Amino acid sequence: MNAPTDTQQLASDNYAGICAEAFAHLEAANAGHAIAYGDDVWTARAKAAIEDVFETACEVHFVFNGTAANSLALSAICQSYHSVICHELAHIETDECGGPEFFSNGSKLLLGGGANGKLTPAAVEAIFRKRSDIHYPKPQAVSLTQATEVGTVYTPDELAALQATARRLGLHLHMDGARLANALASLGARPKEITWQAGIDVLCFGGTKNGLAVGEAVVFFNTALARDFAYRCKQAGQLASKMRFVSAPWLGLLDNDTWQRNAAHANAMAQRLAKGLEPLPGVHRLFPVEANSVFVSLPEAVITRLHAAGWRFYTFIGAGGVRLMTSWNTREETVDAFIAATRQALGETTPAPAAVANSLDA
Ligand SMILES: *Cc1c(COP(=O)(O)O)cnc(C)c1O
Repeated sequence: MNAPTDTQQLASDNYAGICAEAFAHLEAANAGHAIAYGDDVWTARAKAAIEDVFETACEVHFVFNGTAANSLALSAICQSYHSVICHELAHIETDECGGPEFFSNGSKLLLGGGANGKLTPAAVEAIFRKRSDIHYPKPQAVSLTQATEVGTVYTPDELAALQATARRLGLHLHMDGARLANALASLGARPKEITWQAGIDVLCFGGTKNGLAVGEAVVFFNTALARDFAYRCKQAGQLASKMRFVSAPWLGLLDNDTWQRNAAHANAMAQRLAKGLEPLPGVHRLFPVEANSVFVSLPEAVITRLHAAGWRFYTFIGAGGVRLMTSWNTREETVDAFIAATRQALGETTPAPAAVANSLDA
């Protein structure tokens, strides 16, 4: 059984460390004293860099993590009696411990479906039309995750259709962009094309998974929604006193397109992984591979063997479903070692051909 080549794993893009460019800026920001609580030059430069990236004026707030970014952004859009329409697999629903509901003082998430982790205009409309009476939490926003939780990407056309529906129904648009960079690298689109030009009012722009130590940017394209947002951040414990150490590393990502190279590398490693796994008998790809994750189903015995060999990965998508994530510094050797380990584990457990066919149907 092949063990991981080193400490690299394919469990999460959060396993990766800080990229050199971000680290260099962390060190540079440490050179002297600076004004506290975000009034420093690093933070001003990082905000300006984000405006440059999106080619528009916008209001930017840096917070520590994505749960806070999403929760506070949605609480800026919603009153407590409002609701947010999102996909049933959305991170805000499945992985934020009720943070959006908590910080909005009770705004309810209304869950919709859609293939490949993507909310559809029809699903949004159906949820919106379901009730309009005083007894139901009033829909106020749609939240989209780009790239999605299952590693797919909304195309500009899909976003345009969602925007049209949201505008017609008077709904604001929030984007969870924890992996926006991966979506952009996948689409080859300009940042503005899939954000404010697609009607996104507020974007949670992910930095951590792209190579920062810590930090996400809440980007208000609809600046009216940002009213008093600084107070929300402070009250929620999200105002860093030494803000420059959160903001300066963003310059490392955004200057010289490091963030785009990081994302493109992660996506390329996911393609390599999918290409290596897909032909193996007993492996079944669960979703299109469009960003930096690969979802496959594997026989339970193979999962057990891979875990025993030291490979870590999540299996939260039902029996036999495995999520594999690549990152900005995932090495080809790591990918190839996982493919080899899977091939070996399959070889050790491969049942008779008829049984293979059955397990695929199951
Ligand atoms: C990782 C992630 C987040 C942020 O999670 P935190 O752990 O709170 O930083 C948000 N949305 C999606 C889709 C994610 O994958």
